[in-house]
Amino acid sequence: MTGLIGFAVIWGAGRGLGWPRALSLGLALLWLLLLVAVHAPGIGVPQVAAMLGGDFRLWLIFGGVAAAVLAYGAGLGALRARVKARPVAPLSSQGPFSEVELDRYARHILLREIGGPGQRRLKEAKVLVVGAGGLGSPALLYLAAAGVGTIGVIDADAVEGSNLQRQVIHTDARIGLPKVFSAEAAMKALNPFVAVRPYHRRLEPDIATDLIADYDLVLDGTDNFDTRYLVNRVCAGLGKPLIAGALTQWEGQLSVWDPARGAPCYDCIFPTRPAPGMVPTCAEAGVAAPLPGIIGAMMAMEAVKLITGAGEPLRGRLLLHDALHAESRVIAVGKRADCPVCGGQS
Ligand SMILES: [Zn+2]
Repeated sequence: MTGLIGFAVIWGAGRGLGWPRALSLGLALLWLLLLVAVHAPGIGVPQVAAMLGGDFRLWLIFGGVAAAVLAYGAGLGALRARVKARPVAPLSSQGPFSEVELDRYARHILLREIGGPGQRRLKEAKVLVVGAGGLGSPALLYLAAAGVGTIGVIDADAVEGSNLQRQVIHTDARIGLPKVFSAEAAMKALNPFVAVRPYHRRLEPDIATDLIADYDLVLDGTDNFDTRYLVNRVCAGLGKPLIAGALTQWEGQLSVWDPARGAPCYDCIFPTRPAPGMVPTCAEAGVAAPLPGIIGAMMAMEAVKLITGAGEPLRGRLLLHDALHAESRVIAVGKRADCPVCGGQS
């Protein structure tokens, strides 16, 4: 019994004084050898042996069992260490996202309406943005930040100093650079995991159908009516949803024109093209700096909703925002049966 107390003392002292495990084990081994030795027939000391208790065979068996238990523990530890040390298989081989992307998109993945499947749809989506100006700037930045996998941007202009008060995707250092390349640089800097396709040209009828056919949906942030009606006509013809924003000095509007899914097209609601010069452009009339940011960010929001299926998009509804009075209104808009663009569509 006293022999066992010796092991307890060594173990207790080791824990209490913070000895290394090897020292405790070494002392325990010495103590076991002593116990075996004093009980050994011929060389043992019977009086000491009687004081420590047990007998020769008992202490030999005890030592063997203790060694087996220690060996088993050590083997188990080594096995665990090997399991822990083995690198986790790269996530990209199991799904579309790397670990870095999962971290980047974690806030979306947490949302019940988006989650992992929605984020995957964003990554697989192809979105074309017409115009890299006031509305295009925030829309492009948020599409890239949100993780839309392929972003096309078409614009013929170069960055000018007078753009920078609103067109926050561009920088002073990039004045003179084509806007699409400036926008590309900003988006790649923000999110290197998205592909950007810059088209440094005006969207003309000869290329519009082929270009738009390659995308899932289109955001229109241009401020000229030729392009706006062209984009609407082509999107309606191809059955692609069109998220279009427009601005005047203090007011913005926004809708999802989608005749293929029961909503009106732009022509349904605005069938008459204003006479040239009747609607002043931003360059002529001015525009409050944050207003394109508000409407452009909402365009990106509608794009995220359309791609992921979250919530209720602005289909069949026109949102009007009056920044000067901080008022927003949403009005229901319906298809026009005699619309020359989408009248034949269901
Ligand atoms: Zn229509």
